[in-house]
Amino acid sequence: MSVVTRFAPSPTGFLHIGGARTALFNYLFARRHGGRYLLRIEDTDLERSTPEAVAAIHDGLNWLGLDGDGDAVSQSARAPRHIDVAEELLKAGHAYRCYLTPEELAAMREEARSTGQKITSPWRDADPATAPDRPYTVRLKMPLDGETTISDGVQGDVTVAHSTLDDLVMLRGDGSPTYMLAVVVDDHDMGITHVIRGDDHLNNAFRQIKIIEAMGWETPHYAHIPLIHGADGAKLSKRHGALSATAYRDMGFLPDAMCNYLLKLGWSHGDDEIISRDDAISWFGFDGIGKAPARFDTDKLTSLNAHYIRSMTPEALAGLILEGKDAPAHIIERLTMLAPAFAERAQLLGDLPKIGGFATHDDVPALDDDAKPLLDDDACARLHQFAADLPDGDMTPEELKTWLGGWLDQNNLKMRDIGPCLRAAVTGMKQTPDIVMIAASLGPAVLRKRIEGNCKK
Ligand code: GLU
Repeated sequence: MSVVTRFAPSPTGFLHIGGARTALFNYLFARRHGGRYLLRIEDTDLERSTPEAVAAIHDGLNWLGLDGDGDAVSQSARAPRHIDVAEELLKAGHAYRCYLTPEELAAMREEARSTGQKITSPWRDADPATAPDRPYTVRLKMPLDGETTISDGVQGDVTVAHSTLDDLVMLRGDGSPTYMLAVVVDDHDMGITHVIRGDDHLNNAFRQIKIIEAMGWETPHYAHIPLIHGADGAKLSKRHGALSATAYRDMGFLPDAMCNYLLKLGWSHGDDEIISRDDAISWFGFDGIGKAPARFDTDKLTSLNAHYIRSMTPEALAGLILEGKDAPAHIIERLTMLAPAFAERAQLLGDLPKIGGFATHDDVPALDDDAKPLLDDDACARLHQFAADLPDGDMTPEELKTWLGGWLDQNNLKMRDIGPCLRAAVTGMKQTPDIVMIAASLGPAVLRKRIEGNCKK
């Protein structure tokens, strides 16, 4: 059997973290089995679905590298097919027209609430000849006795008694198909073999299976994954302040870090923390998915992001430090040399220009407030001496270190007498990576200019 999975978001808002994780699991499961991963936009709720939300979902998936295989299916465009299926079920006697008015239904619901019973429509077994001339819904006839067990890939065997399932509405009073019907028909027509989705849909699965059985179709495998909760344990939902996937892009997270984090959120492979996409594809399975809700932890995401930033090439890091701006060759060369050291200190992409901005030009950098006190008169006098004695040619960090060692000895100074003030004068900052490496990369002319600029005589 060739595996086909799908991600089926409702475009009523952005792609949220839970949706992104569902997409990832569907993607990984399909890739793991050499199958297909499809995207279906469940836009049947025309009042709440917007083109902006569809675009935002595509944008989020594209950022994460989780675009579906082939074109996305629009559920609303398939309404005629959904209606055909309901008609077929009517003809075969698996469904009936229910003429309950909204008022009658409301009264029955009220009663059902107090008795704890499900609603039973009197039209289920009524003679069609007695049908009034008014709008009707089409309901599926649920079996009255027995039970259904789903062998869920994550939840295990879950059993529900049919007596608890009411006759689900497949076509509304205005003739439009419901979500419950549309999902089943689309999954069948798209050849979906594995339905992987949030466990808030587990209850729906028992109802959906009854449509599948009535049509004589094959039931897909189900895997209902626990929802994601916030760090405080409360449910994370798009209506309760949860952020979009792309909000994390805008905050400076890398898509690889995000995917690694989402993968680890509710799935594990031993103690592995850093998992490449290729490894995830070879390892992913339902057995690694936990049954308890996962807690979203921004600190963990941030530390993974720092790891993925450190793994970038010096050239890519240099581009990020420059924030996409052009720079002369000697600047690119300097940034490429310093970038790995800068990356050690970055957690978010936006940290890189803050850490390395001083190296993107040759001008005198402005002094941070905490760097200013390091440049008192004594320090500046030492720096002027240093600038005057510094040889003219470029030096490697090792050569500069050797020269500096001799210079400190001659002047009866220690590294702590020159390091902090040199760092302040030439970078404008109190804290940076190794100052000797930085000084070597700036070269004597820039060092002198910056010392003069920040230590005016
Ligand atoms: N459209 C549903 C949702 O966004 C998902 C339905 C499904 O996966 O079966 O919650």
